[in-house]
Amino acid sequence: THFGFETVSEEEKGGKVYQVFESVAKKYDVMNDMMSLGIHRVWKDLLLGKMHPFPGTQLLDVAGGTGDIAFRFLNYVQAQHQRKQKRQLRAQQNLSWEEIAKKYQNEEDSLGGSRVMVCDINKEMLKIGKQKARAQGYKAGLAWVLGDAEELPFDDDKFDVYTIAFGIRNVTHIDRALQEAHRVLKPGGRFLCLEFSQVNNPLISRLYDLYSFQVIPVLGEVIAGDWKSYQYLVESIRQFPSQEEFKEMIEDAGFQKVTYESLTSGIVAIHSGFKL
Ligand code: SAM
Repeated sequence: THFGFETVSEEEKGGKVYQVFESVAKKYDVMNDMMSLGIHRVWKDLLLGKMHPFPGTQLLDVAGGTGDIAFRFLNYVQAQHQRKQKRQLRAQQNLSWEEIAKKYQNEEDSLGGSRVMVCDINKEMLKIGKQKARAQGYKAGLAWVLGDAEELPFDDDKFDVYTIAFGIRNVTHIDRALQEAHRVLKPGGRFLCLEFSQVNNPLISRLYDLYSFQVIPVLGEVIAGDWKSYQYLVESIRQFPSQEEFKEMIEDAGFQKVTYESLTSGIVAIHSGFKL
């Protein structure tokens, strides 16, 4: 495994990854916007669109960091639930819009029973996520837990959906994380992973290489004062398996109907699989 100019053993990877995210936590969101020119927001919205959560969905977002997926999920289920309930109430009880609005002052009610559990190994990332949740008014249906993707602190068959966005490439033993994902999902549950992948267009690939190796570490140094962490991020992206190889790894963990969709010429891909 390569970190900047150092070569480290598998055992050391966990510690190094911890240091990287501890160091970038405070600047994580601003750096994401700068490095991806804001496109990470579109990729994350597409992940939610693919998930299309049903009312009452219990989501586990692993490597959830500062809460990007969790907040999107809460917005999505709230809007979905309120639209449905308001339509039903108006049709059944002929309530006025004011009476309907009053009914939805209780935030717990407004999520239709859906919940998200954010799990991350890094307490600094969780701390920033919790601060953001407070500042943006997210309370109901949201919980945070410190935990390792390779050894999740949950019982078997507990969640309807498992997401991991830009997280699995940081895990030391990806096969163990995939097995854990399979274990904690209910039968019928869905695994969804958003991760950097292999660019499939030669011209984009050259531009992407230039941008990644020449621009990103410089941005990391200028904005976060941390060249090495951002160099690690770029290198970890390059070492991650291709779309097809990762699909096979997901199948090996026991998932079925595994598919993927490449986005932005393969810069990222969304993999999906079911526990059947
Ligand atoms: N999902 C968020 C997003 O899309 O913005 C955060 C992604 S961030 C690039 C990677 C996250 O993975 C960090 O918060 C890091 O602490 C977490 N992480 C790394 N190894 C982990 C592990 N073994 N188990 C759980 N989380 C891990």
